[in-house]
Amino acid sequence: MDTAALTAWLQEFAREISAGKDLLTRLDSAIGDADHGVNMDRGMTAVLAATRDETPATPAELLKRTGMTLVSRVGGASGPLYGTAFLRMATAAGDAGSLDARGFAKVLRAGLDGVVARGKAEAGDKTMYDALAPAVDALDAALDAGQGLDEALRAAVRAAEEGRDATTAMIARKGRASYLGERSAGHQDPGATSVTMLMTAAATALP
Ligand code: ADP
Ligand code: MG
Ligand code: MG
Repeated sequence: MDTAALTAWLQEFAREISAGKDLLTRLDSAIGDADHGVNMDRGMTAVLAATRDETPATPAELLKRTGMTLVSRVGGASGPLYGTAFLRMATAAGDAGSLDARGFAKVLRAGLDGVVARGKAEAGDKTMYDALAPAVDALDAALDAGQGLDEALRAAVRAAEEGRDATTAMIARKGRASYLGERSAGHQDPGATSVTMLMTAAATALP
């Protein structure tokens, strides 16, 4: 996939975030401060603007610009987390003009590593990690099993959705929701929900 394909992915992600803004706000109002939808929508709108006027030359340049825009425009916990994820993806993309399925999986894993480096979340903490980590693992496993990109991305989406749904029962141990302690249980995590949209957008736009 070349820069244009990855741009289509980000455009689709922005569309999903915009369509899901109220859902993300509702989820964050239950266990946070009700701004995740607004934060992500503002960030992705800025990303679209920043990549529309001047088309990035390489995947790395696109991913870097995305990360820098998210860091500066999203704020809160999710800005640095998503921002670091995209900046790490940019580094992993190197100077390649396009990525194959394996290359994309490596880039996504670097993004996951960035989230962990930044936020120190572990499995079961009720964060975006709980959807992203199983998705990245499922993508690798599907490619290892010889599946094509299309099928592998659909497996990754299913894993993200399962991980997202599993956050409902969890007690938050990171981020604002952790202030609620046991009262955070019974609510789906907003960041796990938005990162599932990132995977859904990949399965829609990339194959
Ligand atoms: P804030 O909590 O600052 O208002 P957002 O509402 O935009 O920021 O984002 C909240 C989301 O960020 C949570 O739902 C969770 O998924 C994610 N999050 C918070 N802290 C961490 C962390 N340390 N590691 C990974 N994800 C985190
Ligand atoms: Mg919030
Ligand atoms: Mg906030």
